Amino acid sequence: MEAKKIRNTFIEFFQSKQHHYIASSPIVVKNDPTLMFTNAGMNQFKDFFLGNDIPKFTRVANSQKCLRVSGKHNDLEEVGVDTYHHTMFEMLGNWSFGDYFKKEAIEWAWELLTEVYGLPKDRLYVSVFGGDVGDNLEKDTEAFDIWKGIVPENRILFGSKKDNFWEMGDTGPCGPCSEIHIDLRTAEERSKDNGYDLVNNDHPQVIEIWNLVFMQFNRLADGSLKELPAKHVDTGMGFERLVRAIQQKSSNYDTDVFMPFIHAVEMKSGKSYGKDEKTDIAMRVIVDHIRAIAFTIADGQLPSNNKAGYVIRRILRRAVRYGYTFLGFQKPFLHELMPLLAENFGDIFPEVAAQQDFIAKVIMEEESSFLRTLENGLKKLDQIKEEMGKTGSQIIEGKVAFELYDTYGFPLDLTSLIARESGYSVDETGFAKEMEVQKTRSRAAAEQETGDWVLVHEEEGVEFVGYDYLQSQSRIVKYRQIKDKKGDRYQLVLDRTPFYAESGGQVGDQGWLQSDGERIQVLDTKKENDLIVHFVDRLPSDPKVVFAAQVNEQKRRLTMSNHSATHLLHAALREVLGGHVQQKGSLVNEDVLRFDFSHFAKMSEEEIAAVEQIVNTKIRENIALGEQRNVPIEEAKKQGAIALFGEKYGDFVRVITFDRHFSVELCGGTHVPATGNIGLFKIISEGSISAGVRRIEAITANAAEAYINGQLALVKEMQELLKNPKDLKKSLEALMQERNELKKEIEALHLKEAASLKTSLMQKALQVNGMNLIIESVKLPSAEALKKLAFELKNEVDQVVAVLAAEIDGKPQIAVVIHEDLVEAKGLNAGNTVRELAKSIQGGGGGQPFFATAGGKNLAGLPEVVEKAKAIFAHQS
Ligand code: ATP
Ligand code: MG
Repeated sequence: MEAKKIRNTFIEFFQSKQHHYIASSPIVVKNDPTLMFTNAGMNQFKDFFLGNDIPKFTRVANSQKCLRVSGKHNDLEEVGVDTYHHTMFEMLGNWSFGDYFKKEAIEWAWELLTEVYGLPKDRLYVSVFGGDVGDNLEKDTEAFDIWKGIVPENRILFGSKKDNFWEMGDTGPCGPCSEIHIDLRTAEERSKDNGYDLVNNDHPQVIEIWNLVFMQFNRLADGSLKELPAKHVDTGMGFERLVRAIQQKSSNYDTDVFMPFIHAVEMKSGKSYGKDEKTDIAMRVIVDHIRAIAFTIADGQLPSNNKAGYVIRRILRRAVRYGYTFLGFQKPFLHELMPLLAENFGDIFPEVAAQQDFIAKVIMEEESSFLRTLENGLKKLDQIKEEMGKTGSQIIEGKVAFELYDTYGFPLDLTSLIARESGYSVDETGFAKEMEVQKTRSRAAAEQETGDWVLVHEEEGVEFVGYDYLQSQSRIVKYRQIKDKKGDRYQLVLDRTPFYAESGGQVGDQGWLQSDGERIQVLDTKKENDLIVHFVDRLPSDPKVVFAAQVNEQKRRLTMSNHSATHLLHAALREVLGGHVQQKGSLVNEDVLRFDFSHFAKMSEEEIAAVEQIVNTKIRENIALGEQRNVPIEEAKKQGAIALFGEKYGDFVRVITFDRHFSVELCGGTHVPATGNIGLFKIISEGSISAGVRRIEAITANAAEAYINGQLALVKEMQELLKNPKDLKKSLEALMQERNELKKEIEALHLKEAASLKTSLMQKALQVNGMNLIIESVKLPSAEALKKLAFELKNEVDQVVAVLAAEIDGKPQIAVVIHEDLVEAKGLNAGNTVRELAKSIQGGGGGQPFFATAGGKNLAGLPEVVEKAKAIFAHQS
């Protein structure tokens, strides 16, 4: 069975059991402080388990893009080395939100694997949670009894908390689980050792394929477990592992999910897969990593220097490095796999195919720049070895290896490898120590302590009224304390709130909660998954009362103006530059709007002016806001609404329209009632932020007015400075012209002066012991002039020794010139002389035996320089 068919079969099987198919949520996570990337199918459903949100369907099936390269689930170092852990993989899942529980989950899993996919029953083993003393949890006898009715007891294992109790992170929903493992060894091997003993023992052919999690607890910050309000099923099956089992391969990479990519890399490198362990690992790393890189970029996360962007950058670099070291790829190569990727995954994940060129461009730029870094690093390593050669040491210090890692992106194993090739080794313990120091540092910076929620009022769901009102009567549902860099604060959840929570680029609202005699500032509003969380610096004395919740109106209105202008800008850019313009990020607050978009060239002045003009025209047309809530997503798309890649949309969306032929977008933000409210739009900058992505910053309303008034005021000031000329531009040009002429005149004067200075110096030359001595104080306009004068004296005066103690721009300088003949005959040295003389001006310098200069700090020392020089050369014989 082909991979695509296997995926569809899974979905269809659960659809036949009344499950609703849901598309994968983005692989990059927004609005969740505990997670950077989706690491399991359940992430997007977390709020359902916690009871923060009510699901529309109680049975769901999906294929979720996952990435396990950071945090609690990190498989990065295994990937490529083994054949069944990937960075990015698909997790097939079926879900019950308070609907069916263990019995159906287990029975259906078994039916699908053995009857539909036809996996041999005698290769399957199952595990059940065996209890945990620390958490005071009993064995999962319920699951055990169900399994006993299906498989012989000698195929059921009891597992520890590590293997059979699933947790997403340090806190959050969790529960006992039951895993299904498959023994893919050859018949011969199977006859030798019992597969039962190899389950959960890291055997590469006896692997877990499916995990059935029975969500029934919430892990609190203090480590304790609390029963969830309802019981749920969360299952996750690794798609690539399933395909391997069905296609009877001994490696995920031998399936039709990866083989086309392996072939492409074979062609490109001229090496064959399966011949050598090192090149095999490199090929697996590349074909695995390209998926992770492309999928995350498609979902809007560009490689960068921090957080999620840095994780992507590191994955990309790992792939480049393996290609460079083991496959001889010295030029960018990863990006060439993009067409194949688009072709293979276009149907299930259309976001990759739709942005193929953009993604390829981003990857190529990253590759080129890292390959340059790699070369610099190699040079640096050569240098290090050369320096060590002098000391005789053969061990590269941990600190040095860490610097290579930190600034050149050289991982330890690469440094060790290269070192070993020339008989060196690396102090790995020292390296580990440095690494630990850095980790501790960044951990301390990111530290945040979050307390558990304290319930104030029982409340089903939370109502957001901020599209229609800026105030409401609200009660606190729950609160908790948080501690981080900013100090102690509290987070509040209200039953009804007018506060917009930061999302879609728009900042969170500020304002206050007012009760009898007490006013609490709301400092910020953010989303945690779908929960609206208000940040305050103290709790009200009585949290149980009803508050008047009031949004800071002025800030909000300016923010709305900027948000609506962003929509107009987006539409105008597509009109002026073309339909390839895709939003890649935005920030909207009360001061400014920032819009990042895909486009490959700098915008010309004309293009910028055209965009501004379109937006301002739309503002003057005073187009009324079109706002539709709860539109089925398919219908919104039919209206031509622009959806953003990497944004998570539900089945029902909000559509914001300003003239349905101009701007239609899916958007949850707040907007002006009509475009006229924006007043004025002005672009203040346009530039590149990374490969293929440009950024526009613009302002509206009061800010735009203030900006333009500021520019006009500047012009007025200039006019006044120039005594109010009729034509400002002309009079500035005349001024510049005059300045250039004066400059030329001054230069000519300097030349004249220098010539007469030279003549007078030459006349002062004293003959002493076969030398023509010129030792004088001079005043010169520049160091250049001093040097020129010194050389002219050397060329024009025989057997010259000249010491010029110069004042240049109020600073002392010395130049010493000695004729070459004297250098040889008398062993004189201008360099030594200038160093000696420089002491008098508190300075230093040097040069060659026949010419040297020095600068210093002490102008008053110049006469002493002259005296000293006379003393030195008068005694010269
Ligand atoms: P393992 O012990 O093999 O690492 P796990 O216990 O981490 O697996 P779960 O967290 O239970 O796995 O995830 C559910 C399923 O997802 C697994 O049964 C497996 O099929 C698949 N899976 C987990 N991690 C990976 C990965 N890195 N690459 C591919 N598939 C994976
Ligand atoms: Mg794992």
